[in-house]
Amino acid sequence: MGPPGAGKGTQAKRLAEKFDMAHLSSGDIFRAEKTGGSVLGREMARYMDAGELVPDEIVIGVMTRAITKSKAPGGFLLDGFPRTVAQARVLDEQLSAAGAALDVVVVINAEDELIVERITGRRSCPDCGKVYHVKFMPPKRKGLCDACGVELVQRDDDSEAVVRQRLETYRRQTEPVIAYYRGRPGCEVLDIDGGANVDEVTALTVEALDGVKAKA
Ligand code: ADP
Ligand code: AMP
Repeated sequence: MGPPGAGKGTQAKRLAEKFDMAHLSSGDIFRAEKTGGSVLGREMARYMDAGELVPDEIVIGVMTRAITKSKAPGGFLLDGFPRTVAQARVLDEQLSAAGAALDVVVVINAEDELIVERITGRRSCPDCGKVYHVKFMPPKRKGLCDACGVELVQRDDDSEAVVRQRLETYRRQTEPVIAYYRGRPGCEVLDIDGGANVDEVTALTVEALDGVKAKA
């Protein structure tokens, strides 16, 4: 969890690879639906492009299907879901019905001005989804994906105006989810400083996760 641009997707990809987990990013799943141009995708786009949350009833259905289909040996890593307390409650109920439980919540934090700089400089490959930053993680050839060679694109919601709205939405609707998990027995909430460079954030996260494992 964490505000937009804190580095959730960047770190989630690294952790999922390290621990053989499925990386389930609600934002990536919704953007694929949006690009596909379905009725559902067009409905989602109305909220996403305005920096608002997609309504819970849509999110819960789509994410339940994604979780049910995932089959990685190390389990799954959720990125961007749940984002409301209602989503967190349904997730808890569904996991408990399946005999599982969410055991660790990683919260990556960063200052607002750093977030705006990260978000407005974010670019991604429309083919493979790899994420870059014009200043912090530039591609080898300006504007082109290292792996695919195609032109990088900017997300529709990565403008400064929309990111300020997304931050407001995060504070109002998603921070209460962190409080919900902090109060829950059996669930560890790990607070990570996302302001450092990518390798350092990965190292801090792995170290914190190892600490949880050592206690278990
Ligand atoms: P989130 O998934 O939280 O929205 P991303 O992982 O997509 O955030 O990161 C947002 C932008 O910041 C991307 O352009 C990414 O390349 C860049 N970025 C991510 N982590 C760092 C970091 N630790 N230092 C500098 N830039 C970063
Ligand atoms: P992200 O890629 O995580 O930044 O998400 C992009 C956008 O997708 C968000 O600003 C929301 O509009 C939408 N979204 C992603 N995950 C959720 C969720 N769990 N609940 C509601 N909306 C979501």
